[in-house]
Amino acid sequence: MGDILKEILGKLPEGKISDAGFEGANIVLYTKDEDYFLDNKGTIKEIVDDIKKRIELRPDPGITMDLEKAEKTIKKMMPEEAGVDNVIFDPQRSRVIIEADKPGLAIGKEGEILREIRAKTLWVPLIRRKPAIRSKIIDNIRAVLYQHSDYRRKFLNKVGHRVYDGWIRGKKNEWVRLTYLGGARQVGRSAILLQTPESRVLLDCGIDPAKQQDDVTAYPYLECPEFKVDELDAVIVSHAHLDHSGMIPYLIKFGYDGPIYCTAPTRDIMALLQLDMTKIARNEGKNPLYDSEQVKEMVKHTICLDYEEVTDITPDIRLTLYNSGHILGGAMCHLHVGNGLHNLLYTGDLKYARSHVLDQAATKFPRLETLMIESTYGGKDNIMPPMPEQDAYLKKVLKDTFARGGKVLMPVLGSGRAQEVMVMIETLHRNKEIEDVAVWVDGMVWDITAIHTAYPQFLNSNLR
Ligand SMILES: [Zn+2]
Repeated sequence: MGDILKEILGKLPEGKISDAGFEGANIVLYTKDEDYFLDNKGTIKEIVDDIKKRIELRPDPGITMDLEKAEKTIKKMMPEEAGVDNVIFDPQRSRVIIEADKPGLAIGKEGEILREIRAKTLWVPLIRRKPAIRSKIIDNIRAVLYQHSDYRRKFLNKVGHRVYDGWIRGKKNEWVRLTYLGGARQVGRSAILLQTPESRVLLDCGIDPAKQQDDVTAYPYLECPEFKVDELDAVIVSHAHLDHSGMIPYLIKFGYDGPIYCTAPTRDIMALLQLDMTKIARNEGKNPLYDSEQVKEMVKHTICLDYEEVTDITPDIRLTLYNSGHILGGAMCHLHVGNGLHNLLYTGDLKYARSHVLDQAATKFPRLETLMIESTYGGKDNIMPPMPEQDAYLKKVLKDTFARGGKVLMPVLGSGRAQEVMVMIETLHRNKEIEDVAVWVDGMVWDITAIHTAYPQFLNSNLR
């Protein structure tokens, strides 16, 4: 057991905790004591305040109510208007995910219903909004995580040990080194290696989608002497576009089995895009770089973070993701290195304006000494017209085309741009500025739009 766990257990009343472990940088305690689970009398909060780490107290799986009975009990407690029909259990972690049409009603006044569920079933309930469009990829990802929950538990515990068990590479001097393995003075194959005396972290690992598969310049320089896959402590993915994420499953094929940090929408969209890429390669009679097996392994090793959730990823690096305003779940990566030694922001792709779908990129950070900023479209001539002008232009194209009996074809990137355009069309339509026409979307656009509906908290407040 790690020292930090021993320290925590030493501070808690004796005999209350049956098991303790890590879930990444979070600390999880299990208790077999029903009363202590329902009311720990502030003993956990006291330690959280003291050590400044996230600690969660859960019931030991041995004391939770039988699954079938618990499902019936939960459904009975839910008000009909909450629209609950899907209840998903995560027995390894004593958690139950309740999907609701109206999460507010499912939670109850000041969390009343949740408290009741805890007391009656001894499960930890989590309420999620039921997505407006069912996404096959999200269902598949959940199934993979569920089937491998035992592996996940061990894996997350191992990640926690790497973070908390102290330095392994020896503290000599203080330095931070960045090596571009791709993506410098070019669009595509973004990959940056960050090294400190203790840590080896890879920021993004993409391909150049404009290049042919057999062109070596389509991929980052993973063969450079600085990069050793077996020394890598963590991979961070800024967003799902393949020029930032397309090589992640290849790293797994290469032997990487450590954590991959990103937001939940990034995990889902990148898995979808990677699987699509392998499908396209096969259809063209080529051997794909990797196959669905490695995409699945990637999902098993992904640790999802919310925006502005601070997490230790190695003994000397703390990561916080911020909204980048670029695509759903897209993040700027803030890295706090050493104890106040250096703060660095890697923006990935960003948009410094509120769009129809997303909020604008975050601009406030606790501290920042180094800023690495994406500069595609950063040239002096890359000026986008203001949003009302864009809307007006789209309206004119649509109206003119319909007036002469035409159809409008819009080839746009499936993730980000497509949803932006769909919202523009919907708004014109709703405001009766264009006539009532059918809108057809490509299958990939539909799948990615479904993922948008599953994560409303990542959309701007208007669209939400
Ligand atoms: Zn991008």
